[in-house]
Amino acid sequence: MSNPSNEISISLGEDFPEIRDSVRQICAAFPGAYWREVDEQEAYPHAFVQALTEAGYLAALIPEAYGGAQLPLRAAGVVLEEIHASGANAAAVHAQMYTMGTLLRHGSTAQKNKYLPGIASGQLRLQAFGVTEPTTGTDTTQLKTRAVRDGDHYVIHGQKIWTSRALFSDLMLLLVRTTPIEQVKRKTEGLSVFLVDMRESIGKGMTIRPIKAMINHNTTEVFYDGLRVPAENLIGEEGKGFRYILDGMNAERILVSHESIGDAKWFIRTAAKYANERIVFNRPIGMNQGIQFPIAKAYAASQAAELMLRKAAAMFEAGQACGEEANLSKLLSAEAAWEAGEACVQTHGGFAYAREYDVERKWREARVQRTAPVSTNLILAYLAEHVIGLPRSY
Ligand SMILES: Cc1cc2nc3c(=O)[nH]c(=O)nc-3n(C[C@H](O)[C@H](O)[C@H](O)COP(=O)(O)OP(=O)(O)OC[C@H]3O[C@@H](n4cnc5c(N)ncnc54)[C@H](O)[C@@H]3O)c2cc1C
Repeated sequence: MSNPSNEISISLGEDFPEIRDSVRQICAAFPGAYWREVDEQEAYPHAFVQALTEAGYLAALIPEAYGGAQLPLRAAGVVLEEIHASGANAAAVHAQMYTMGTLLRHGSTAQKNKYLPGIASGQLRLQAFGVTEPTTGTDTTQLKTRAVRDGDHYVIHGQKIWTSRALFSDLMLLLVRTTPIEQVKRKTEGLSVFLVDMRESIGKGMTIRPIKAMINHNTTEVFYDGLRVPAENLIGEEGKGFRYILDGMNAERILVSHESIGDAKWFIRTAAKYANERIVFNRPIGMNQGIQFPIAKAYAASQAAELMLRKAAAMFEAGQACGEEANLSKLLSAEAAWEAGEACVQTHGGFAYAREYDVERKWREARVQRTAPVSTNLILAYLAEHVIGLPRSY
């Protein structure tokens, strides 16, 4: 018997065609040469971010009441997918889309009124998200950065690592411990989220140090040494921060999966073009099954991943629990992009290593999705424990 509450509708074609066309047009003004240059200079792609902001795409998920576009999650994902499918990279902007969700869902009316209109108009950037720490990594509940109440402020000491875009953000969402772990019943308690105004913090207890990384992700280490944050910047209730961050995970996973699907599309299109054009032994290399089959396998993997992603997005939109599907999407899309990247590198032979082809840059960039924002291992652990019913492994 059918259960109407479980029904979802999935579009199978090129959905949101106007958004796709518009994003493609914006990206056409930022070709490979632009991305190679910002990559080589480890620069922030200001002009690209400005163009997306002006088109309103960074406000995609903000409700109309705050000046945003109030698009469905899938539409925001399509924006990211098209950026990546064009050969560009959305890392400079994607956090703006999902980080503000914590403010939207758990912030007070005063906080939302104060910040969301500015974020929607592009005047304010909320794209830094400080969770990971150098000594505790994936074991988030063990994080050591501490906030201690002092009158109408909290005073923060500690260190974060891999806080991306910190130097190009006005605001940051920061997860810290407010109650020592020894004093809570469950280790997930006693963590709190703050909205930190970085304009008032840098040099006054906050120091940011860029990390030289494999990709141009504008990522940093952030040191907190007595940073005073007004108590009114606490999001929601003190001690409930871990749950607030978890609440945003499905949206984050679904959004970034679109980037991997876009990467896979770029790799497959680029590999097929080169395989048709490159003549070796007097014929296109694409005539060889040794070249064709890896591309075809990557295509199959990316199609399957995209189907799961569309399912996850539709379930999310329908308000259904979609932890399994969001995690599956993240796993399958990251793996499909990686497989497509490998096929593209192999197809290009030595030229894959020449920067002007953009293949090596896209390959480096696509790889990060197997590690961040969540590593493939932790997704497998989630599926094993929460979906398949195996014992918790950590
Ligand atoms: C380019 C980039 C940008 C990032 N941006 C941000 C950001 O903006 N904000 C932020 O807070 N963080 C950010 N991160 C951090 C990222 O989320 C972490 O790197 C990631 O979660 C893994 O943590 P770790 O590096 O400390 O690895 P570790 O926790 O040290 O783990 C190392 C390896 O061991 C595996 N592992 C650990 N425990 C287990 C287990 N129990 N079972 C199986 N495998 C296990 C991990 O999956 C991983 O493969 C970024 C990272 C990168 C590389």
